[in-house]
Amino acid sequence: MALTGLEIYKLLPRTNCGECGPPTCLAFAMQLAQKKASLDQCPYVSDEAKAALEGASAPPIKLVKIGTDGNELAIGNETVMFRHEETFHHPCGIAVAITDELEGEALDKKIEEINNLWFERVGQTIGVELIAIKDTTGDPKRYSDVVKTVVAKSKQAPILMSFEPNVIRLAAASARAKNPLIYAANSENYQAMANIAKMVKCPLAVCGNGLDEVAELTEKIKALGVEDLVIDTGAREPLQVINDLTQIRRLALRQTFRPLGYPTITFVEDEEEQVLQASTYISKYAGVVVCPGDEPWQILPLLTLRQNLYTDPRVPLQVEPEVYEVGDVTPDSPVLMTTNFSLTYFTVLGEVEASKVPAYILAVDTEGQSVLTAYASEKLTAEGVAKMLNETAVKDQVNHNNIIIPGYVAVMSGKLEEESGWKVLVGPREASALPAYLRQYAS
Ligand code: SF4
Repeated sequence: MALTGLEIYKLLPRTNCGECGPPTCLAFAMQLAQKKASLDQCPYVSDEAKAALEGASAPPIKLVKIGTDGNELAIGNETVMFRHEETFHHPCGIAVAITDELEGEALDKKIEEINNLWFERVGQTIGVELIAIKDTTGDPKRYSDVVKTVVAKSKQAPILMSFEPNVIRLAAASARAKNPLIYAANSENYQAMANIAKMVKCPLAVCGNGLDEVAELTEKIKALGVEDLVIDTGAREPLQVINDLTQIRRLALRQTFRPLGYPTITFVEDEEEQVLQASTYISKYAGVVVCPGDEPWQILPLLTLRQNLYTDPRVPLQVEPEVYEVGDVTPDSPVLMTTNFSLTYFTVLGEVEASKVPAYILAVDTEGQSVLTAYASEKLTAEGVAKMLNETAVKDQVNHNNIIIPGYVAVMSGKLEEESGWKVLVGPREASALPAYLRQYAS
């Protein structure tokens, strides 16, 4: 948490010499708090105060990056407990776990399946960014060979999972170009693991037995020169996991408790419970969730939930307000009106595509509000729709003047006809009824 002007003032020499520019230390402290001055303007600030001030300006939860350009996942640097207070900034990473027992065609097939776990939803591409490779054989050479294959063929950033430094050392050297997350340092191996993380310059996960041990370990590992850490309290039972994740977030944000000021990693062990458990961890407050199952039905609900949680509640998802052509449109093609709220627009788009009737969709600027909300708040008005209809090229592209409006706003039909000169056809209330409606329209 940022320091207040008064807190900064207490760390300054308080001699009011004026050499920093402002006439007093207090005035300088206020400027520092507002980020209008920099600390090096005071030549007399002590090294201890400098360290305290620089430390205080660091984010309460460190930002950690896994993977490399084009395939990089940034986690941490969150600033609030609850999404409605501001927004959640860095979406939790979703990983699928494999083991080093896989080899040959079976390994290639699994990598391919995980590579395909990417989907289009409301105009965004969402998918699995991480692949966790568990060491189950204890054989450094075998593990390293599997990691090499994953590095060569997987689109995901790797998590290297072993508590054996010998296993991790060889594999980390093979995977370093992909900036893997090394999992994990514990109370027995932390020095060796910290050395490997320093050698390959990769982030390191720290696994302890509860919050206290994790906090102790992060301080020890930081003292060894590794700062990009991800933490795991070792809990696997869901209630304990939620409790730990919540405590970590609270301590980091509300008490600026640096030893736990890192993103977290959690594990789902029961594949049958994957959707339920992983959804809970994504909601509160995992940085990475490692899942055993890679079926699309096990993954897509998690991606959807994450996408919904990590949109900014202050900025509705929206598409450009314009006329969209769906399919090979002709002058006979129907013109449908909806709003530019992404979820509404893409729902309508999906149903129009499913109808196989080429059509124009007029996405009216409602500042990203859905149909009924926009109508109630007067963002969707007959005047606005008429203006868009008559100012866009669609009026010259069709040989008719029929506009199909959502059934929920049938009430605006008369006014819209008056304002636009177009003939209003009241479409179905729900987008799911559009295919049947459009096929009948086109017949
Ligand atoms: S230079 Fe330092 S000691 Fe002098 S007024 Fe500024 S903050 Fe205070």
